[in-house]
Formats: sequence, structure tokens, C-alpha cells
Amino acid sequence: MQVTLAQPNLLKSQSYVNGEWITADSGKTFAVIDPATGEHIVDVADIAAEETTRAVKAANTAHKTWQAKTAKERAMLLRKWNQLILDNQEDLAKIMTLEQGKPLAEAKGEVLYGASFIDWFADEARRLYGDVIPTFANDKRVLTVKQGIGVVAAITPWNFPIAMITRKAGPALAAGCTIVIKPSEETPLSALALAELAHQAGIPAGVLNVVVGTDAKAIGGVLTGNPIVRKLSFTGSTPVGKLLLSQCAQTVKRTSMELGGNAPFIVFDDADLDAAVEGAIASKYRNAGQTCVCANRILVQDGVYDAFAEKLAKRVAEFKTGSGFTDGVNIGPLINAAAVNKVQELVNDAIDHGAKALIGGDKATQAGDQFFEPTILTGVTQDMDIFSSEIFGPVAPLFRFETEEEAVEMANNTPFGLASYFYSQNISRIWRVSEALEYGMVGINEGIISSEVAPFGGVKESGSGREGSKYGIDEYVEIKYLCMGGL
Ligand code: ADP
Repeated sequence: MQVTLAQPNLLKSQSYVNGEWITADSGKTFAVIDPATGEHIVDVADIAAEETTRAVKAANTAHKTWQAKTAKERAMLLRKWNQLILDNQEDLAKIMTLEQGKPLAEAKGEVLYGASFIDWFADEARRLYGDVIPTFANDKRVLTVKQGIGVVAAITPWNFPIAMITRKAGPALAAGCTIVIKPSEETPLSALALAELAHQAGIPAGVLNVVVGTDAKAIGGVLTGNPIVRKLSFTGSTPVGKLLLSQCAQTVKRTSMELGGNAPFIVFDDADLDAAVEGAIASKYRNAGQTCVCANRILVQDGVYDAFAEKLAKRVAEFKTGSGFTDGVNIGPLINAAAVNKVQELVNDAIDHGAKALIGGDKATQAGDQFFEPTILTGVTQDMDIFSSEIFGPVAPLFRFETEEEAVEMANNTPFGLASYFYSQNISRIWRVSEALEYGMVGINEGIISSEVAPFGGVKESGSGREGSKYGIDEYVEIKYLCMGGL
């Protein structure tokens, strides 16, 4: 263990089921590895299907009493949890940087961002209003009530080890649902620390469960196959999302899917170039490029292409690559060796087909085995693999376009539709392009768009459903129609 925690009890190595810390029935454990150094952090109990089934049953039992609490009672417990997360921001950030690699400042930011969903949905708990609908017959009255959907499963990725959990658990618990969370096996420690704080907050046994294991297929099989689970909320890759959707079809579960992206970042001739450079830096290189809303294709209009590339390169040259615990580092390691190799392959393919590395282009071996140099590629074209692949690394490919129509067509030429961005100072163009982009989210002269107050989600193969905002709680609620007759 390479960091000192104010509350050492936050570092957990077992799953959290029915208010208790449990080992694997098999007795197996697996190692959690620091991606910056390759060092072993801790061994964690490797649980599988049986224990997950027990977690689902515990969530089902707890649901009866949890849904019977008033919204205010649930909100008070959520607020306590939120406060404990804020109080332990430093420790949570250290655990996250240790297992995930992101720079400590970014990890602290994620803790605040993650907590904001619990705070937001604690408030929303009290706004689950039904309707009284003008009747269709004089002897009847027509009403609706909103009720929590029941037991919810959440499967989450490693790139935001806290926020991807809180933005599911926050609305689920607020709506009166109970939850079984399967975090990524790459980053179980942040999830388990969140569970410990939920425990300390007094969230009752069985309401929130965290199951950790390497056999994602077995755990996922229970979460998608067990009829007690009424809803799956998933954040991860599109292929796994498609698989889980098909599995959920067997019991007709409700689903929310936050899947892959291929975000265009368009810079028009009339953009404020300095602002566009800063937006591209923020959107592209955060978390070393490992977010599903990272700019994946930077489309630059002919007249400003060279100037933009030069300005961007000047800023990227200032980056420092290294351990997230080192002061001033802005690019941490990638999550594992496979990720580094995939990024290298995409860069090599582009260069083999005529692109040039204006800066970077290789593994950053002086920083460690799992680092990639912050990179800018120029002369990139649509026939290269990088146009259609989610890069998930600190590589900015610059594509050239001539007209607005061409830019919009290139931007939409993908099965994905999560985030998109463009920079322009022309109000007519801003409306035209905003409406033409087939994406769930559009950043206009802005590279950072995520917030608990705004609906996050995608269209096309980027998924379905929205997280955060006043809409986020709807994913965990059923509308029940009451028809009162004989009046
Ligand atoms: P990423 O590329 O972000 O790792 P994945 O889709 O592979 O995306 O992983 C996201 C989450 O889905 C992780 O928690 C992972 O363990 C889980 N997962 C991967 N495969 C399966 C599966 N077959 N069934 C259930 N969960 C899975």
C-alpha cells in the first residue's frame, strides 16, 4: 500500500452484501494493480454467481422497508452519505488514483462530481409527483402515481470509478429502489470505499450492495437473468451493452445503456481559436483520453487547420506525463497493457496510411510501461481506423474539411451518438449545426459538459436513457395508472 489514508478503514478487500463484508465462497482472491507502477495494491475477494444471487435476494428483502420510507427519510440518509463522501474526499481521491491512475487533482474533481449526484437526487426524491388527469367518464377518476421500479442492478466501468456508481445509485435509492452494483474488476476499491461510507451513513442492510469479481460473465448472468432484478443500468462498451441487452430481453427488464462514443470536435473558420484549443485540451486529454465523451475526431476547417494545429501542439508540449501522485502531472497511465497496445495500433495505422505525428506518437516508456505520449496527428482521413474507433488514449487526430455540410456529414458518419462539440461565433451556424448533429449532447464553444443538473446520454449505438438532471430519476420509476370507478 503506497498511500496513507486518514481513514484506513476505507480500503476494503471484500464484497459488501446485506450490510456485511463477505469473502468468496471459493476462497479465491484477485490482485488489484496500480497502473502507473504495475505494483500490487491489495488482494480482493473474487466472488461469483452464488454470492451475487444472495445479494439480489438481500436487495429484494430490503426493498420492502426501503420503499416504505418517506422520500424525506430516504433523502436524509442520502445526504449523510453525500456528506461523508465530501468529508473523505482526499482519501477517496487517493484510492482512485492508486487503482485507476488519473492525476490526483482529477480524482478529487471526480469525488465532488460523484457526490453531486447523490446530493441532487436526494432533492429529487421529494419531487416524484403523480397526476390527476381530467376524466373520460363522470363516474370515474383518473390518477397516476410514480413508484420505484424495485431491485436494480448496475454494472459500471473503470474510467470514472465513483461517479458512474453514484449517478446510478443516487436516483435508484432516491426513488425507493434497492441496488446491486458490479464495479469494474480494474477499480473495485473506489466502489468498496463508497459502500463503507454508505454503511457509515446508516443506509440499511441490503439497500446497497457491491459485488466484486473477475468473472463478469457469471456475475452479469445473475444480474441480467434473475427475474427479481427489474432494471439494469449499464455504463461500458457497446459490444458488452448489446450482449447485456439481449440477456435482459429474457425477463423484459428495463434498461439504461451508456455505451461507447466517437465524439466529433468541430472547429469552424469563424471560431475563437484560442477558446477552441482550450476546449480541445479539456475534452481530449482529460483522464488521458479515457472517457466516453472525449473528443475522438477533431475536424478542422481548411482556413484555420494549420493555425489550430500549431496552437494545440504548443499547449500539448507543456503536458507532463507520469504518476497521478506527482505534482503537475496531467497525463497518467492507461488502464492496462491492452489499452496501450490498442492506442499504438491506431496511431501506427494512421501513420502507415499517410498521417503525421505533429507531437508524440509512441509509448511514453520513460514514465512507465503503461503510458502513452500525448499525441497530435495531422493529415488524418476518414479511411483510417482511427476515424471509426474509440481511441481511449491521449491522441488527437486532426481531420480537414472545407464546408459546413461536409463537417456535419463527417461528424454523423458513425454508428455512435453520445457527445459532440463545435466552435463557431456565428449564431445561425450554431443553431443549424446543433440541430443537425445526431448526438445526445452538444458542447457549443465548450469542451466540458457533464454536470449533475444536465441530462447525460446518447442516441444510436451509444445507448438509451439519461442520467443526471430532472430526467435521471425517471429511469428508476414506473408510472402506475389508477382508475377509480363507481363514483
Ligand atoms: P471497458 O472497455 O470500459 O472495460 P466493458 O464493457 O468491458 O468496458 O466493461 C464495463 C463493465 O462491464 C465492467 O464492470 C466489466 O466487468 C463489465 N462486463 C464486461 N463483460 C461483461 C459481461 N459479459 N457480463 C457482464 N458484465 C460484463
